[in-house]
Formats: sequence, structure tokens, C-alpha cells
Amino acid sequence: MAGSVTMAVLSLSASAEQTPTAPVDSVTLAKNTAERVVANRPQVLRASKWDAYQQQPVVSYQKLNYVPYKRTYKGVPVDGGDFVVQTSATGAATYTSVAQGAEIGDLSITPKLTAAKATRIAKAQLKAVAGVEDTTLVVDATGDSPRLAWSATVDGTGPKGLSRLTVRVDALTGKVLNKTEHVTEATASGSGAIYGDVQFETTAVRQGFAMQDPKVPTLVCQDAANNRTFTSQDDKFGNGDGTTRETGCVDAYFMAQKQIEMLAKWLDRNAQDGKGGSFPLRVGLQDQNAFFDGRQVQIGFNVKGEFLGSADVVGHELGHSVDANTPGGISGGNTSEFVADTFGASTEAFINSPNDPPDFTVGEEINLLGTGPIRDMRNPSSLGDDNCFSNRTAREEVHAAAGPGNHWFFLVSQGTGGNGQGASPTCNNSTVKGLGIETAMKIMYNAMLLKNSNSSYPQYRILTLQAAKSLFPGSCTEFNTVKAAWDAVSVPAQTGEPTCSA
Ligand SMILES: [Zn+2]
Repeated sequence: MAGSVTMAVLSLSASAEQTPTAPVDSVTLAKNTAERVVANRPQVLRASKWDAYQQQPVVSYQKLNYVPYKRTYKGVPVDGGDFVVQTSATGAATYTSVAQGAEIGDLSITPKLTAAKATRIAKAQLKAVAGVEDTTLVVDATGDSPRLAWSATVDGTGPKGLSRLTVRVDALTGKVLNKTEHVTEATASGSGAIYGDVQFETTAVRQGFAMQDPKVPTLVCQDAANNRTFTSQDDKFGNGDGTTRETGCVDAYFMAQKQIEMLAKWLDRNAQDGKGGSFPLRVGLQDQNAFFDGRQVQIGFNVKGEFLGSADVVGHELGHSVDANTPGGISGGNTSEFVADTFGASTEAFINSPNDPPDFTVGEEINLLGTGPIRDMRNPSSLGDDNCFSNRTAREEVHAAAGPGNHWFFLVSQGTGGNGQGASPTCNNSTVKGLGIETAMKIMYNAMLLKNSNSSYPQYRILTLQAAKSLFPGSCTEFNTVKAAWDAVSVPAQTGEPTCSA
């Protein structure tokens, strides 16, 4: 009671001291600029006369602002209709990133198929259905010719295991137009109590202390068997035995808090969802795997039964959550595992633990399959993935397709010499000088703030160039490094891509 009285007094005096005329802040400026851009309906938007646009919460990075939009057509939400307006420190519109490739034209919004029938078609895409989330009418503008569709999300088991699948069904013909899997699997690392004796923040509860972050209360570590948050009477957790779930939580939870710190210090971002929120970590998945499904991170074990709590695994999974909670959602065109790996490597570098020294391999600490790391960002081909982008990358297995992007990230960060991490080969025999991992990650993240639902490797080339240019005005060093690194992994120059002149 005393606490709330004090709070009330404080807020009264705060409001009494407020100045009557506050200057327009940079977010308001960005919102107004973006509204003016949208009102002019520039060609880049592919606007039809039935379009309407809904501004989404602005994401800020220092003085840059990113204003995302959703689109409706005759009042129906358009999947693949999203776009982002970037504004500079002075509030000028600097770039607009648009998912949609063509105007929608004249489309009937009256379905011939019922929602129930569409849901049945969606369920038939799974081997076993555990639940149905929702089925909504959309215009699917993700492909070449926009269609009226039912978008149905179903949970259960698919051909590759656990699944949370969004299926878009043609609302006229019943044809399955496309499917989006929300379960991202890792295949990851960790060995016992990976980080050894560590400290982290907990929340005082009736039973003592809970593995719940006091500042980001949606970050909890739980037993996957019952979704109960681990608690301790003396605020000590785990026993160093990586086969116990509580010890698995020590590694994963410690790592997640460090990632939140990295997001704040390097990327000016408020936790994984950007709004001070995170996702529950659930240790005890009965599989040699870990995944993020849009709502939680499930963490399994290695060949020795030790839970996988390391930065390049759980940090990678939480990287998927950042990807899902930046404009455009989970990266497409087979780039999502590359995106998640950049978060894993950056978190590992930020933690800088002697028990897990920063490097660019993925999964070295635990030996998921007993054969060492599962991916190598310095030289992806050393573990069977492609070093160079090609027209087959978009069709490869998702983790294999991370190769060219991981290789690009290594080159931007470390350069061809590797800066202590070993030399990295290039696909064009060029030499690249690295910018360091913090700068590489800032560029990556600002490109993510410009992404739309039509992302791909060629798109990431364009967006990272725009990011380097806007983050380092007056300098072309960073821009040129980003460009040289994409050239070095064979992602070719794109029509109309940004240029830089100092
Ligand atoms: Zn992944």
C-alpha cells in the first residue's frame, strides 16, 4: 500500500513539471512522413484503387525510424501486401521496401469455398492434427497473380515432425496455393552445464525465486513436460549435470538474458519482440533438436541426453523470434536459418564466455550428433553446405541454404583473413576487410527492419546496402564491405540497388 501511495505522488509531481509544448519527437515525425509518402501512392507501392494502408508500430534504431504498413484490399487483409518506409534522422523518407510485385487489379472478394472446407483442406496437409487456430479470408499477393484465399493455421505433426502450419487455400477453387511452416528446427549444441557457474536475474515468488526475468517477465524457463517455471528456495539452480532439465534451463536462461543485453547495447532493441517481451524457454523436448514455433522455444538434447542451452542454439532459436517480430515476419527465400545464425554468433560473441569462446561454428559446444559442430559460417562447405549462392539455394534444405548468408556475415565481420578465426575462401578470389561482428550485426538488424514478406538473398543484398548507407552517412567503407562480401558469395548486383558516394 505504501508503495502505491508513493507512486501516485511521484506521478503527480512529474506531470506538474511537464512543459506545455513538447517538440515533435522523431517517431511522430517519421509517422507523419510515412503518411505523406503513402498518401501520394508512389508507383513503388503497386497501389490499386481498392487498397487501404494501416500503419504499424514504428521501430527505431537510434535516429533512424522504420514505419511498417499492412494493406487491405476492399477491406480484406492482403498477405504479401506489406511494406516499410525508412526515415532519416531529419525525418525525410529515405527508402521504401515493398513486398508486392504487381498491382492487385480487379478481384472479387466473394469466396466460393466455405471456411470449413478450407480448414479441412489445411488439416489434410498434416499427418496428425492436434488443433486448429483460425481460418481467415485474405488476398494472397505473395505469388505472381493475386488470389482470394483462405488462410488456415493448423497444429500437429507433419512429414518432418512437429508442425505449426499456415495453409493458403484458393477460395474459389480449393487449390492449395502455398504453405508456411512456423516451426524452425535447429539441430544444435551444448554439453552439460555449458556456461559453468553463471549469474542471472530471477523473480522473488512465494516459493522462493523463479526463473522469470524481473524486467522481461515473459522470459521464463520451464519444464517442457508441464510448462511450470523452475523455482528455488535459495535462488540456486542446477547441478552442472546437463541431462537434468533445471540445469539445461541454467544455460538457456542465462544465455537468453545475455541476448536481451546484446539486443539493447548493440541494436537499441527492447528484448526479442522489440516491446520488452520474450518467449518461454521449455527444456525437455524429447528430440535431438530445438525449435521456435512463433510462441515458444522448445529445447531437446544431444546424443548423450544433455539439453541444448548454448548461444549458437537457443540464441539462434530466439533469433528466429526477433525475425518473426520485425517487419515482414520470418525471412523468406530460404534465408531464415542464416538470419537466426547471425543472432547465435552475435550472442556468443557478446557473452564471450571462456567455456564457449566466440567463434563462427554452430553447435560446437555440445556435439549434437557426436560429430562436432553442425554448421561453419567461415567456410560452410567444410560441413557440406554451399559457400556460394546459386539458383539452387532457394530450393535447398533450410539449414544448408544458410551457407551463402552465413559466409557473407563472416566476411563482413571478420574479412577474408578471419581476424583470428581462420581464413575464409571467397567465390570470386577477392579479398574483403572485416568490420567486426558488432557492426556486421547492426547492418544485418537494420536490413531486417526494412524487410517485407517478400525477402530473399537478393533482397537482403539490397537491404543491407541500404542499411550500411543509412547507418554510416558520409562513409562508404561499410557499404563497400557489404557489397564486396555479397559479391564474394555470388549474390549478384540487383537492378536499382543503392549506391554510395562519400
Ligand atoms: Zn533455426
